[in-house]
Amino acid sequence: MPDTGILIGAHRVAAGDGRTIEVEDPATGKIIAHVPAGGAHEVDAAVTAARKAFESRAWSRMRPLDRARIIETIARKIEENAAELALLESYDNGKAVHHALAVDVPAAVDIFRYMAGWASKIAGQVNPISGDGRQYHSYSVREPIGVVGQIVPWNYPLAMAAWKIATALAAGCTIVLKPSEVTPLTALRLAELALEAGLPEGVLNIVTGYGHEAGQALVEHPGIDKIAFTGSTRVGKQIVQTAARDLKRVTLELGGKSPSLIFADADLDKAAIGAALAIFFNSGQVCLAASRLYVERSVYDQVLEGVAKVAQSFKLGHGRDPDTMLGPLVSRAQQQRVLDYIDQGRAAGAEIVTGGGTGPTEGYFVEPTIFANPDPDAAIVREEIFGPVLVATPFDDPEEVIKTANNTRYGLAANIWTRDLSRAHLTARKLQAGTVWINTHGMNDPSAPFGGVKESGWGREVGEEGVLLYTETKTVTALLDD
Ligand code: NAD
Repeated sequence: MPDTGILIGAHRVAAGDGRTIEVEDPATGKIIAHVPAGGAHEVDAAVTAARKAFESRAWSRMRPLDRARIIETIARKIEENAAELALLESYDNGKAVHHALAVDVPAAVDIFRYMAGWASKIAGQVNPISGDGRQYHSYSVREPIGVVGQIVPWNYPLAMAAWKIATALAAGCTIVLKPSEVTPLTALRLAELALEAGLPEGVLNIVTGYGHEAGQALVEHPGIDKIAFTGSTRVGKQIVQTAARDLKRVTLELGGKSPSLIFADADLDKAAIGAALAIFFNSGQVCLAASRLYVERSVYDQVLEGVAKVAQSFKLGHGRDPDTMLGPLVSRAQQQRVLDYIDQGRAAGAEIVTGGGTGPTEGYFVEPTIFANPDPDAAIVREEIFGPVLVATPFDDPEEVIKTANNTRYGLAANIWTRDLSRAHLTARKLQAGTVWINTHGMNDPSAPFGGVKESGWGREVGEEGVLLYTETKTVTALLDD
């Protein structure tokens, strides 16, 4: 267990009023840790530490290659502590240890390693200004935006924290990060490893606490220059309203209701496995989960049967069992939310192909569930469920299905299964989504900008675009006397 105190500079502190939050193992419901319930007071202390670190220039003005070395050392520290981090993530979030080891921890390592490179590559430009005919030298530089507030959710607690922290560090920012109150443990451990890697104190501060207290205080704080948020669209909208008071910069990675499109000419076995993993991996608690399945009518029954078979083959279990494919949902509240959607789906007349129950009795499990032929206006088709629930519908017209796929307020991701290269790329052009995968799903990489259109977010994370969103452009123009 990491030190569970709020991290301000290099010091661990309790919440001033002594309140704590219970951290649960979702496979058993047992309390495994307590973390402080930080609020405005702790956020203020953390912002002060981050501001001091930013202005001391110990980080933003460090030699870029030295900054790169520290970021790379954090990657190495995560690698060296992979087993421990994966176990911690499993106890905290419920996911299988072997999944955390194969996906979450490598994602954290990769982003720090990738962003280490960017620390020495953020360049500017010379502006070829015409002006008034006199001689000018004009250039634009990218400066770190300052002190950033980062708020992350509970579905990929380590990877989401790593994506945000590594990118902000590469740009030279200092950070106050608030993990989800449901899964705070790996972010706290990551911060310990960052200090061990030589990150100067105050550059990364972690305030545990509830969203409406610590999160809200972070968004309201006048000392924060940018809020980077990953979470629900509902909270994202609240953050925009609050941040508008002082026009803080805001980037948002929000929810989704992503479609899978399977055409009759696809490799149908691969497509069925791909579509099943696209919704059920991490028990459906994935922002980019493809929760709507559209299949060309001539192969609809065959594909649906294939996806159902794959779903039925997934073993539900606690995260420490090496045979577990699907862990519990993160909390009782999340389990109940998903079960309520399943009840609504049944009540709206959609046919259950598989699942619909809770599986093993102990822990917050929900079976992988597939609804066929739902009413297109039903809540299960329109709303993000954030659980292992798929809705499947046949289509006849390839143009019409693109319209149907786009008929949502979200636009995070989509996937297409076909062997026809032109169809694949033309469909990708027409889909309203931040990311489109062809004959695969979920391949995220630190080099590929990730984010959503419409109500799935603002801005992009990772890649060059992600780094630049942690900078402001300054133009300097000098009149040359000749
Ligand atoms: P959430 O919006 O409830 O909470 C996310 C974070 O925001 C938590 O740390 C929470 O404490 C904090 N928060 C809550 N209210 C706040 C407030 N008023 N002010 C400031 N902070 C506040 O989301 P969740 O339930 O933790 O996560 C699930 C959601 O996250 C889903 O909608 C999912 O699609 C989305 N998500 C998106 C991405 C992406 O990259 N687009 C990735 C993962 C999750």
